[in-house]
Amino acid sequence: MKRFLIAGNWKMNKLIKEAGEFANELKAKNFSNADEVAVLVPFTTLCEVGSKLEGSGIGFGAQNVHFEKSGAFTGEISVPMLEEIGVDYCIVGHSERREYFGETDETVNKKLKALLAAGITPILCVGESLEVREGKGEQTFVAGQIISDFAGIPRDDAAKVVIAYEPIWAIGTGKTATPDQAEEMCAFIRGVFGGIYDNKAADDILILYGGSMKPSNAADLLAKNDINGGLIGGASLKVDDFAAIVDAAAQLK
Ligand code: PEP
Repeated sequence: MKRFLIAGNWKMNKLIKEAGEFANELKAKNFSNADEVAVLVPFTTLCEVGSKLEGSGIGFGAQNVHFEKSGAFTGEISVPMLEEIGVDYCIVGHSERREYFGETDETVNKKLKALLAAGITPILCVGESLEVREGKGEQTFVAGQIISDFAGIPRDDAAKVVIAYEPIWAIGTGKTATPDQAEEMCAFIRGVFGGIYDNKAADDILILYGGSMKPSNAADLLAKNDINGGLIGGASLKVDDFAAIVDAAAQLK
């Protein structure tokens, strides 16, 4: 049976009270596929969301982490700090972090290694800009990200990473990649990953699509062979919209 992960990226939204209410409402949905659902929330709401989701099967996690365990890195949060809270997931290399906060493939690679060593599942974001796609360079660009981001990571660790293909031109723009465009790139990523490791690892790895996924387009995207779910920004902020996407995945099981 096809495995999915439907992951909500709240970005810099929701205060503690609202986050707790959202988690309560999400838990109350009693999803049959709850173990294939997660929310990635602001650091300040992690404890509240984690405690409210307890026993639901729904995962939770952070949107960024530093690769060092501790030290003089003012304003940063380390892997042991996330471990202490008991997070399941952490986003790494989101395009907003690459664009606004100087995230590079080198820091992404270090973060993946630090998270994997702690048993926290990284959700690694890759994806090209509009300029790169218009120049037909998207495959070369994304292959380069995958090769650099996984450098030196052993096969069994790499197979635990969730990859999210997020074309930058589709994030928060309302402009979704067509199911065929998304499938083509997710299949390509699976091939690149299989070339670095092996076919079994490529078959097993979860590859998500992200970029203006919403209830109206989720089923068509999720039905594609190489798309194992979604990383969802805007539509993950409303419980009913997010739940509709979770249900779309459940119906494809
Ligand atoms: C995201 O931020 O990961 C994302 C896909 O955002 P949106 O769904 O709003 O495009």
